[in-house]
Amino acid sequence: MTISKNDLLFERAQKTTPGGVNSPVRAFRSVGGTPRFITRAEGPYFWDADGKRYIDYIGSWGPAIVGHTHPEVVKAVQDAAARGLSFGAPTEAEIDMAEALCRLVPSLEQVRLVSSGTEATMSALRLARGATGRDKIVKFEGCYHGHADALLVKAGSGLLTFGNPTSAGVPEDFVKHTLVLDYNDVAQIEEAFANFGDEIACVIVEPVAGNMNLIKASPAFLTRLRQLCTAHGAILIFDEVMCGFRVALGGAQELYGIKPDLTALGKVIGGGLPVAAFGGSAELMSKMAPLGAVYQAGTLSGNPVAVAAGMTTLKLIQAPGFYERLSATAARLAAGLTAAAKEANIAFCADAVGGMFGLYFSVTPPNNYAEMMAGDRERFNLFFHHMLDEGVYFAPAAFEAGFVSAQHTDEVIDATIAAARRVFAKL
Ligand code: PMP
Repeated sequence: MTISKNDLLFERAQKTTPGGVNSPVRAFRSVGGTPRFITRAEGPYFWDADGKRYIDYIGSWGPAIVGHTHPEVVKAVQDAAARGLSFGAPTEAEIDMAEALCRLVPSLEQVRLVSSGTEATMSALRLARGATGRDKIVKFEGCYHGHADALLVKAGSGLLTFGNPTSAGVPEDFVKHTLVLDYNDVAQIEEAFANFGDEIACVIVEPVAGNMNLIKASPAFLTRLRQLCTAHGAILIFDEVMCGFRVALGGAQELYGIKPDLTALGKVIGGGLPVAAFGGSAELMSKMAPLGAVYQAGTLSGNPVAVAAGMTTLKLIQAPGFYERLSATAARLAAGLTAAAKEANIAFCADAVGGMFGLYFSVTPPNNYAEMMAGDRERFNLFFHHMLDEGVYFAPAAFEAGFVSAQHTDEVIDATIAAARRVFAKL
């Protein structure tokens, strides 16, 4: 029996890296088994250390929207690298990127570039608190906004009690201002504002949630958030790190026609390199240092190589028909998988928004965290591993959304559905 190189690498990795990985979900803890160590990627595919090819439905958790190693992106990165890796001084390319983001995302007048989604949401939160002079924040159970202390919080023991840390090392004191409510629950958010309206600095939400599988906000929910924030002088933050440039060119705010006060972006805008951003009105953003009193900074912010990857990606996704095709691809996958499951009598459904999709081992798509948790996770794990054997790589946890790229052709989607048909028959 030949030993898998993935097994050997995993064993080696665990000696010098906690859990063998540099970001927890990569470790396959939820689904069990050995993570695949990736050696290269191209278009809709990547290859592991044993040379096995997979159709990749993670796309680096969102960034790879034009497909892996797109020749134009690679060339732009090579050219930028040859001119210099980092300057710690401003460049024209950063202006180009800020202009592009402000033109494409409806609510943006000014942006600040940072290097990760965590930094973007953490800084937006600080700005919201700095601008309002208030401490309390509202988030929703199951929404992930990066790993800043105040945002690693789950719901408290009862409605309108403040939250509990979800990570060791986060002091209770740091989360005592964070109120955690149920996603898509209009009555709860109304009650929160009735109780604490003049103390709430901001409401932060994933307008299309992608960290509790895929869950769409109801238009009524987002509309009410907008109304309540405006009425009470609170800042509405859309965390579009995942759904920005993913569900539509202008993000979820374009899709729903609702403008937040602040937006956090990441993933796609870096095209696979570390670029993220937060922004809003010029007036609000003027409260940031060096103009205002809210401090935030970064050695590698607006890095020229990363910005080159991001700008080229932003150019490619503006091609006519790009989002129509991307949406049709994700919809084809969702419909095909649903039909294949039905043939095998499996309780399963799927949904898609733009280039993002959700797979659910339940009869209807969930509307919030509790409904998502009620899905059949054991069956997902079996499905995941059988699909992996078939050469199809879905996110290694039932709680994650999936992503297609412009390189996922109909043939690639149909091959995936054919594999799923074989797998559903075994479940
Ligand atoms: N917000 C959302 C909605 C995300 O999906 C993520 C990452 N998955 C983050 C913030 C954090 O981004 P990063 O991992 O780049 O820090």
